[in-house]
Amino acid sequence: REILDEDDLDKLKDRPPVITIMGHVDHGKTTLLDYIRKSKVAASEAGGITQGIGAYKVEVPVDGKPLPCVFLDTPGHEAFGAMRARGASVTDIAIIVVAADDGIRPQTNEAIAHAKAAGVPIIIAINKIDKDGANPERVMQELSSIGLMPEDWGGDTPMVQISALKGQNIDDLLETVMLVAELQELKGNPDRSAKGTVIEAGLDKSKGPFATFIVQNGTLRRGDIVVCGEAFGKVRALFDDAGKRVDLATPSIPVQVIGLNNVPIAGDEFEVVESLDTARERAESRAELLRNERISAKAG
Ligand code: GDP
Repeated sequence: REILDEDDLDKLKDRPPVITIMGHVDHGKTTLLDYIRKSKVAASEAGGITQGIGAYKVEVPVDGKPLPCVFLDTPGHEAFGAMRARGASVTDIAIIVVAADDGIRPQTNEAIAHAKAAGVPIIIAINKIDKDGANPERVMQELSSIGLMPEDWGGDTPMVQISALKGQNIDDLLETVMLVAELQELKGNPDRSAKGTVIEAGLDKSKGPFATFIVQNGTLRRGDIVVCGEAFGKVRALFDDAGKRVDLATPSIPVQVIGLNNVPIAGDEFEVVESLDTARERAESRAELLRNERISAKAG
């Protein structure tokens, strides 16, 4: 992946997959995210989740060993689309939810197109199999007809029949995620300075600008100087997905960052630089670039 530099190659370590859940409205994305968060995170974190930071980590047992994976907490593909439009891609795997009583709808097609354009492997979650009108076979047929052939029928698209509401087969789904991730051999070099992508940002009355970063390579540490889009600053504090203060974040791990001078935009890339001067320069030249683009867009 482009985020890896050549000098990293001998220092690469496995990193967890980052997963986005997409699909048509009302097909069950939020229910699925909630179920996974509640059943997998709350159990492992004493005190549970205080507030979302836009992504969360869960641990899935693989051969008896718990392995982490990270879910982006923004259902729908607006976030995915917006990030892609900005050239960012943090997602390693797309779960596309299709309701078994409804089948392929416009946003299903859109989600499939997004994932394909990004070169991201697709796992289909056929949801709502608990419902009376559920017809998973029909959904599989529909998907086959648009080129997504189920693995069970000799194709190469994993499809898992679930009920997000009842929590049925969610473990199967998560195991499938880990299998697909294993094939991708996702790596990062925790030994270098961090870079990655902003997935969420805002302004807090007391904390000031905050942003959630997904580290894609390197290790981000408290005290690091970062530049992201037009914003920059020294990392004053890092919070994990349970709202707990942490000192660092390794590849694929989402953290909320406090200390920026400004609110960045989801999809902005961030990078650690050596000094505040460098950070300021970069942020300013980036701001100027965007100003010029806007001016020429108006003129054109
Ligand atoms: P989203 O728009 O894709 O995020 O869909 P939601 O998660 O908000 O779900 C839409 C509706 O479908 C809600 O009323 C859910 O309770 C319901 N729903 C979601 N998953 C299931 C399921 O597995 N079975 C049943 N019966 N209902 C579900």
